[in-house]
Amino acid sequence: MSEAKKRYDRILTLLTEHHALYQKVLPLIASENIPSPAVREALATDLGNRYAEGWPGERVYAGCAYIDAVEFACIDLAKKVFDAEFVDVRPISGVVANLVIYTAFAKPNDIMFGLSIPCGGHISMGRARFGGTAGAVRGLRVEYFPYDYDELTIDVDKTKERLRRLAVDGKKPTLAMFGGSVLPFPHPVKELAEAFHDVDAKINYDAAHVSGLIAGKTFQDPLREGADAVTLSTHKTLPGPQHGMVLSWERYADEIKRATFPGLVSNHHLHAMAGAALTLAETLEFGEAYAQQIIKNTKALGQALYTRGLKVLGEHRGFSESHILWVDIWEHGDGGKIEGELEAANIIVNRNLLPLDVRMGRHYTHPGGIRLGTQELTRLGMRESDMETIANFIKRVVIDKESTTQVKRDVTDFRKDFQQVHFCFENATQAYKYIKIR
Ligand SMILES: *Cc1c(COP(=O)(O)O)cnc(C)c1O
Repeated sequence: MSEAKKRYDRILTLLTEHHALYQKVLPLIASENIPSPAVREALATDLGNRYAEGWPGERVYAGCAYIDAVEFACIDLAKKVFDAEFVDVRPISGVVANLVIYTAFAKPNDIMFGLSIPCGGHISMGRARFGGTAGAVRGLRVEYFPYDYDELTIDVDKTKERLRRLAVDGKKPTLAMFGGSVLPFPHPVKELAEAFHDVDAKINYDAAHVSGLIAGKTFQDPLREGADAVTLSTHKTLPGPQHGMVLSWERYADEIKRATFPGLVSNHHLHAMAGAALTLAETLEFGEAYAQQIIKNTKALGQALYTRGLKVLGEHRGFSESHILWVDIWEHGDGGKIEGELEAANIIVNRNLLPLDVRMGRHYTHPGGIRLGTQELTRLGMRESDMETIANFIKRVVIDKESTTQVKRDVTDFRKDFQQVHFCFENATQAYKYIKIR
């Protein structure tokens, strides 16, 4: 066999092994999900090899007849699912969707409000010093939202006070970026919309994480609360392919379209766009039941972990109103160490900074917390009683420090019954089955 063929085979083996692994683990990363078999089919189509620059119906390439029809269907579904006046489905990811908004609504050196990373902000809203997209790429000056450490959300009164003080210094923000990557509770968009609009700032809500919950009507509804736009990823709680979108109002359509193309995309990953369209159709049918079960599962897992002695944040608020739990793990080992121990037991979570970690001298490689998400478990058909079982697995590793070999065996055994994707039209192909078309 040639050297090249050996390398080729090795890569394909790694891919199949990845699939075999995911049939056995508990996937608890809050930013991931498993798409339906129809979406995986779309991802393997020829659309991923085509270009369709421009707006559907006004492309600058030939051969787009079916692509245009799919994109119009995607736009139409997104408008319906999110009750949005205008939608651009071309941004290829959540970060690119945010850049579209930074381009449409702000210019370099403008001031933008956003959450700091320890308080749940995403690096795409970060300062230049940390390499954040807003600061380092678009040149925005990022002002942090004051955070309420007990309520685990943005502090309304302190934000208004900061806006007043900035105004006195002649420093008005042009953009407020709500939303984030650790978002157990809704953000006060409604409470702060007027204060930002009064200084002529626009409001964007980054729903990368919670777009599936917004679609399922179980979280806040930023467009009704005063947001000028919503950016999202299509693959976190919305269980689609990796892609992005911007939702907004007709009055901003021109700026957003121009920022997207020619500004930020040339090809826009048409196979993923088609997958997103299918995801939205499934969301229209199953989205509410799915989102409601996520919330029930999150609350059940939060309570079950808390009862077993783990410090889940937000206890007095019922731990979470989203798919996310934030757990202070410090007394059992730092987040990096715990992440590794859990992985050895086939429980996949990520280490995460806690709101006060940086002030306590902790760093993101060894933070005080872990973050858990229930959306993918919910897609696999798990319910509240399964969350009790999972809390036990986690306790055995984190608190009892039991041998991970034994826990791993039990996790793998438990996972055998959950191999199908739920909340979709057709699930004959198992969730993580490797599809060979060679
Ligand atoms: C994940 C995330 C993003 C980035 O999304 P991609 O689709 O990975 O580019 C942006 N904002 C927030 C708040 C996120 O959590």
